[in-house]
Amino acid sequence: MIMKHINIALDGPSGAGKSTLAKRIASSMGISYVDTGAIYRTVGYAVRERGIDPSDAAAVRSILAGISVEAVFENGVQKMFLDGEYLGEKIRKNEISAYASKVSAIPEVREFLLETQRAVARRNSVIMDGRDIGTVILPDADIKIFLSADAECRARRRCLELGERGEQVDFTVILNEIKERDARDSGRDTAPLRSADDAVLLDNTYLDLDGTVKAALGIIFAVLERKK
Ligand code: C5P
Repeated sequence: MIMKHINIALDGPSGAGKSTLAKRIASSMGISYVDTGAIYRTVGYAVRERGIDPSDAAAVRSILAGISVEAVFENGVQKMFLDGEYLGEKIRKNEISAYASKVSAIPEVREFLLETQRAVARRNSVIMDGRDIGTVILPDADIKIFLSADAECRARRRCLELGERGEQVDFTVILNEIKERDARDSGRDTAPLRSADDAVLLDNTYLDLDGTVKAALGIIFAVLERKK
């Protein structure tokens, strides 16, 4: 459907539904979905495996040169490898979320992963989701969307998602974790979570998945039409 190379940046806070939306858009447009959170989660996983405190920037920095983080695409599906080992669902565990969030605030970690993300977008038509895609990683993206929803709504969705994976969690705990992650992601000095000036804002608090997909595709095609 899409003829030319295209990059779509999708940013927003945890639990807004970026990855579900990005997967739907990728399949309807025939482009690849790049999950940058998974890349940070892989570093978080490496840090946890080594028993390092993720808030100890010097200790985290010291392992970067010795690890290999690879995102491999198979039939359009992203797979994360750490030192050649396929991590599968291990990076999805709730405890890895906090590790990823903490290591991602370290400038050297972001620098370490920058080129990996840009290289994928150069080689492929992508929709890439994250926190700083439209602001830092792909400032020249063709389309930028900032997806958000209120914290309670995001916590409800996160509980459902973890429940479906068999992790039973408490709503209040998840809500507090989401608020903490929001504060950490938005308050950090390096690449804080914020909307790019030229991003289109999409609040899906009152939209279901189909409604969100419809709204996002509407934004994408309106921007493409304008750029013709
Ligand atoms: O999106 P996901 O919840 O998988 O991301 C895990 C953590 O990685 C986030 O809380 C965020 O702190 C960090 N992250 C980031 N920049 C990105 C993607 C994720 O800082 N582009």
